Amino acid sequence: MTGQTLSPRAMLDRLVAFDTTSRDGNLPLIAFVEEYLSSWGVKSIRVDYEAGKTNLYATIGPDIAGGIVLSGHTDVVPVDGQDWASDPFKVDERHGRLYGRGTCDMKGFIAVALAMVPQFRAAQLTTPIHLALSCDEEVGCRGVRPLVAHMRDHLPKPRAVIVGEPTSMKVVNAHKGAFTFATEVKGHEAHSSATHHGVNAIMVAGELLSELSRIRRDLEKRGDPSRRFDPPYTTVHVGLIEGGTAKNIIPRRCNFLWETRLLPNEDPDEVTSRFGDFARTLEPAMRAVAPGTGIVTQRTNVVPSLAPEKDSPAEHLALHLAEANGTHAVSYCTEAGLFQEIGIPAIVCGPGSIDQAHKPDEYIEIAELERCGHFMRKLIRHCAA
Ligand SMILES: [Zn+2]
Repeated sequence: MTGQTLSPRAMLDRLVAFDTTSRDGNLPLIAFVEEYLSSWGVKSIRVDYEAGKTNLYATIGPDIAGGIVLSGHTDVVPVDGQDWASDPFKVDERHGRLYGRGTCDMKGFIAVALAMVPQFRAAQLTTPIHLALSCDEEVGCRGVRPLVAHMRDHLPKPRAVIVGEPTSMKVVNAHKGAFTFATEVKGHEAHSSATHHGVNAIMVAGELLSELSRIRRDLEKRGDPSRRFDPPYTTVHVGLIEGGTAKNIIPRRCNFLWETRLLPNEDPDEVTSRFGDFARTLEPAMRAVAPGTGIVTQRTNVVPSLAPEKDSPAEHLALHLAEANGTHAVSYCTEAGLFQEIGIPAIVCGPGSIDQAHKPDEYIEIAELERCGHFMRKLIRHCAA
């Protein structure tokens, strides 16, 4: 069976042309990939996330356990408000670089993997190579979760996952995890002159923010025993706050969104229970003024960290394929921790630099795609042996 042959560059052109901004979904891109794969006799399945958003899982080689998963997200961050020198959804080559939204994060990796499918097919693989293409990664690694659950419950268990996020082809065996929260302070409205009759939600929020700052400083002082992360500690951050209606009304509501990014193996309950305990100390005085007042915090998302694993087959393989002799740690999150959570060793290694991700004039060096191609050719030899 022979299908369409596309170079990595031509494949990247096709992938970038699909505007897969997370909010808009990825179905046209997935339909294109399905058709391309089936033209090479490769079966794939969809695991849906939400309307207009789906994940794709394909197997090349025998339908058995012990395979290698090449994993990438198909969604990209928005170009809204960014000043681009060229059309972000049309790959533009300038000075050895390919510009376009997603070239680096992370359609470059997916393009190389897809362009190699004819070679994967020709190689008589004894170890299967799987492609796992996800949606809605850029909004908290949400989309891939039904696919991960499907893999855990229904598919032969792979031996390793390579998540091709941009690492400049360095092997990353650890990243931080992210816990995100929404806190709502329910106060009590009154005329601003009658402070004794109101509960000022903004000022209560201010006390909560001070506690988060104290927690942040304590974590910073404790630092990172592994000394591998930048910054070398668990972080706490508040990203958005809103509350109040007018200068002369004691505000009834104040909400803020915050997160903590934890070093692997650090206990998330430490931050949340300390914050919760502090919140509980504020409530009696609030309720003495108005009974319906209080502080409610909801956890809105969790992206697990990637913890280094001793003798990880994913790490051994990636070091061999990338011809690298050391591993690295990064502070951004990926889907790797979700695969690790279901017992599949995972590693992050892909072309392009994270420094170019999410920015206007995002680009990938052509040389990076070539290095990724070399990595894939070694993978074929490994899986055909
Ligand atoms: Zn990414």
